[in-house]
Amino acid sequence: MENPVMKYTELEYIGRGTFGDVCRALDNATGGQVAIKKINLQGPRKKELKVNEFMLMKTNKNPNLVNYLDSYLVDGQLWLVMEYMDGGTLSNVISETHLSEDEMAAISRECLQGLDFLHSNHVIHRYVKSSNILLRTDGSVKLADSGLFVQLTPEQSRRSSVASTSGWMAPEVVTGQPCGPKVDIWSLGIVGIEMVEREVPYQYETPVSAQLLIARGGRPKLRQPNRCSSCLRDFLSCCLQTDEARRWSAKKLLQHPFVTSAKPASTLVPLINSVKKEKKKTRRVKILSP
Ligand code: ATP
Repeated sequence: MENPVMKYTELEYIGRGTFGDVCRALDNATGGQVAIKKINLQGPRKKELKVNEFMLMKTNKNPNLVNYLDSYLVDGQLWLVMEYMDGGTLSNVISETHLSEDEMAAISRECLQGLDFLHSNHVIHRYVKSSNILLRTDGSVKLADSGLFVQLTPEQSRRSSVASTSGWMAPEVVTGQPCGPKVDIWSLGIVGIEMVEREVPYQYETPVSAQLLIARGGRPKLRQPNRCSSCLRDFLSCCLQTDEARRWSAKKLLQHPFVTSAKPASTLVPLINSVKKEKKKTRRVKILSP
């Protein structure tokens, strides 16, 4: 077996997620950059890791999903090699700047394309949130953390348990009902609210009270609805239907006027680059200050 330690040169630590560290590295053979997620298989969360889920990532290839290139076992760690997304996360963009509706529409369409692909293959993502939407400086928008996808067999179109992240959880997840792919559509609607308001609904609540509010109150409301076009408001309302049967599918949402009028993803390049520049500056200031 090829030794990954020889195959890649680590360039920079990027950050830590629930399952381990991610670094930027150089593929010595091609000279291209990759991201490597190093998952400690001995860690306390090892029970949550199922190797077959990682197998899934390699088979689910789509331009709107972060592409997994290889996996290796290195000294009790699972290394997942994936394409390097050099534009950071959507959550960085949201915290740094205000998005225009055109930008929100282009981002929504790209995410919906990824979700439509997964759902057509009977896969639920489960972790759609702005920090799992990665960007590239060429304007690409891709769903990450696909390692935790849940595969449904065609006969089994729903699951009785779906892990998710509090503020983005669909009501049926919170109340423990059987869940289907539309949990991802609810979460995407919450990302829509994040893009508009630069905050997740119930952000200042504890996870438990956020879940109670979602279970009881249903659809989170925009604080200043008049600041949005009626088309965007309608799009969000189609995503955030408490009744799952009335919530639109990814395929149907791709036909919504908010999405069909979206500009190409390449129009996101100036936004992604300006946030990247800003982030670099803040990092430099942090390093320089004592
Ligand atoms: P959680 O695991 O709780 O969802 P997370 O999504 O931040 O948190 P990771 O997916 O492990 O956790 O990511 C850790 C860091 O690495 C984040 O800053 C993330 O944006 C970055 N990252 C992950 N994948 C890539 C990638 N392919 N290219 C560039 N950066 C990445």
